[in-house]
Amino acid sequence: MDQLAVRLHPSQPLDIRLEAVPIPTIQHPDDAVIKIKFSGLCGSDLHVYRGHEDVNEIHICGHEFIGHVVALGSSFHSGSPPSRPALYASLKIGDKVISPFTVSCGECQYCRLGFTARCVSSLVFGSPALQGAQAQYVRVPLAGGTLFSLSTPSTSVDDPLSLPQELSYLPDPTLLLLADVLPTGLFVVLQALTHPKLAPIFTGIPWPRNVVLDVGIVGLGPVGLCATLALLDYLVRADVRHRIVAVDPNESRRAKMQKIYDALPGHARGESENEFIITDIPDAPKVVQAWGQGGCRTVLEVVGNPSALTLSLSLLAPSGILSSCGVHQAHQIPFTGRELYNRNVSLEFGRCSAHSIFVPAVELLLRRRDVLGAIGESGVVDRIVPLSDAVRAYEAFEKGVYGKVVFDPWT
Ligand SMILES: [Zn+2]
Ligand SMILES: [Zn+2]
Repeated sequence: MDQLAVRLHPSQPLDIRLEAVPIPTIQHPDDAVIKIKFSGLCGSDLHVYRGHEDVNEIHICGHEFIGHVVALGSSFHSGSPPSRPALYASLKIGDKVISPFTVSCGECQYCRLGFTARCVSSLVFGSPALQGAQAQYVRVPLAGGTLFSLSTPSTSVDDPLSLPQELSYLPDPTLLLLADVLPTGLFVVLQALTHPKLAPIFTGIPWPRNVVLDVGIVGLGPVGLCATLALLDYLVRADVRHRIVAVDPNESRRAKMQKIYDALPGHARGESENEFIITDIPDAPKVVQAWGQGGCRTVLEVVGNPSALTLSLSLLAPSGILSSCGVHQAHQIPFTGRELYNRNVSLEFGRCSAHSIFVPAVELLLRRRDVLGAIGESGVVDRIVPLSDAVRAYEAFEKGVYGKVVFDPWT
């Protein structure tokens, strides 16, 4: 039996095709096969689409999906030992599930410490190593350690991975944000704001409470939007005065950021003395200079290329934190050891451990359901597109004309 899928043909850039391919089947006892309800188009899909990654095999794209279980391997049964992830004992055919964008076993030393992004068995959906989710069905390896069930929420208050019932009241396309962009946006914020260099600001010691935290965000695609919402949520809840400069060269991305900010209730923006400025690249240094603190204490880099890193460093104050979640492919970073030494720069790089940060991301989604739960102009999810229109959607997303696209594979 065949299904419809979006496949990348890597012999030339920008070549994706809608094709009929076999429906995946169980290959290992830990596998699950999911019938996809919605899948996402993501900024990191663009890296392979543009030919920036060393990919040379045709494969199904996409790493964000929500759907229902249609097949389970033999590891899934009520007698699964308690030493294994709990889902092996509880997941059933028909359950609604959502998956982080990488597979993680839940059993290796990295998974147990919460670094699920670096699981020894980690695979990224939508790569030659693991077929992706811009299709009608997807196979999930190590599914008991990877998936979250939306069908059996809060079975135990002691289960740190149980999901609240309230989640089921949000539209499914917005739950898809939990697969990647919302955890990754939260991750790039936590990586910065929980850094020891910023601890005095959040404890109020030894600085006075009138300190102002200046923050830059470079890149206002869907992850940048989520990072901004996570940042505002964190700063307002910690009652820290702040000024934020959000930077993107693309006018439609800046307009989207403005619409989302405007849609936030007043209390979600904090005190009126806080500032939130959206700007293009040339004006960003002027904004930061006018603030008069020698630069931002932290800059979030949400793009993944050398020019974004260069801009981020230029906005950073001495002793600042450059927190990056962009998927970098360049062989070198565009600054020297001396530049970092002379300015005491802290660098934080890498992939979000989406499985570990999933539950805090759910809590953020519920707190900010006003914009994260919306679809359209003032929502992070920009539009729902039939999978049959995927080629056109990739083109529009690549140009920044479309924001976050969610594919419906059944229309
Ligand atoms: Zn993604
Ligand atoms: Zn693992």
